[in-house]
Amino acid sequence: MIPIAVPLLADEEADAARAVVLSGWVSQGPQVAAFEDEFAALVGAPHACAVANCTTALQLALAALGIGRGDEVITVSHSFIATANVIRYQGATPVFVDIEPETYNLDCTRLAEAITERTRAIIAVHQMGMPCDMAALVAVARRHGIAVIEDAACAAGSQIRMNGQWEAIGKPHGDIACFSFHPRKVITTGEGGMLTTSDAELDRKFRLLRQHGMSVPDIVRHGSQRVIFEEYVLVGYNYRMTDMQAAIGRKQLERLPQLIARRRALAFRYAELLGNIEGLRLPSEPEWARSNWQSYCVRLPDRLDQRATMQSLLDQGIATRRGIMCSHREPPYAGAEPRHDLRQSELAQDHAILLPLYAQMDSADQERIADAVKGELAR
Ligand SMILES: *Cc1c(COP(=O)(O)O)cnc(C)c1O
Repeated sequence: MIPIAVPLLADEEADAARAVVLSGWVSQGPQVAAFEDEFAALVGAPHACAVANCTTALQLALAALGIGRGDEVITVSHSFIATANVIRYQGATPVFVDIEPETYNLDCTRLAEAITERTRAIIAVHQMGMPCDMAALVAVARRHGIAVIEDAACAAGSQIRMNGQWEAIGKPHGDIACFSFHPRKVITTGEGGMLTTSDAELDRKFRLLRQHGMSVPDIVRHGSQRVIFEEYVLVGYNYRMTDMQAAIGRKQLERLPQLIARRRALAFRYAELLGNIEGLRLPSEPEWARSNWQSYCVRLPDRLDQRATMQSLLDQGIATRRGIMCSHREPPYAGAEPRHDLRQSELAQDHAILLPLYAQMDSADQERIADAVKGELAR
């Protein structure tokens, strides 16, 4: 059986978690602080704040920007449902725009028509690790005075060329970027998330919001020789990462460069193996983007039934997933007619499939997958 994804976790991660357990400090503490510093350095961001997962990161991004009831946030329907849900958590309204079929990312030519006097932010998703066209998107946002949040859940290790140089996703290129360390992403802490920003005031708000609005963190009180009374200066949350998770994350960060190199080689090999199959559309990078290939998504010809194709591959021992979901088709969002045409989003959900891609795959696995896909296309 070839699974869709396998995290790369080994003795280094297990030993790091064990050391934290035995240290006596297991909640948010020195490991979280070190993980934040190392992540910030890696992506070139002035500030990084670790949280429980990317869903909470996205919610805190909106909260720190003061987005709430009566506000509209533009994003894609074609994303994991958390992207839309966080907008609802804040009492704001998600406004969905369609994607480009080539990159599965927000179609920036459709942004202007979606902006109203209520629009406060855009959540740009780097779907499956493929960078979204940030230069175009930020230009529109700045013109209208709208904030930009990057949903970089899948995009740790991806790069984008901005102003003539390659930069990591997370620098950030909008106002705030949010990452996930769920096992389905490229690096994992079991559950985990990170916010990066260049704005010290936003970073200060993330830190208050993630920890009950507490003015003096418990770790500071723990280490103090003087009695400190803390205050709770706003209604915050408990969205902390644990030190065990952060210790694992630090080891995963060390692996990231090799993981990306390996994933890029695997994606390149898929392109060679699948490139000449009539009717199959392969993903490709715009010349200004370098994906971490969190997922490898191929578009089946319309004549092939997606579910039957996936079942047949599963029967041959190959796990796949259907194209990225569309939130506007799920019950919490399906009540209202979408304001804008979402045809490309729906077509991608209904006709694309994700193929297995993980560092431990070997060339025999990839050839077996390619042969099986070829077989399906020949039907
Ligand atoms: C996985 C994912 C999320 C949610 O991340 P969690 O860490 O699981 O909360 C949000 N947005 C996108 C695009 C994702 O792929």
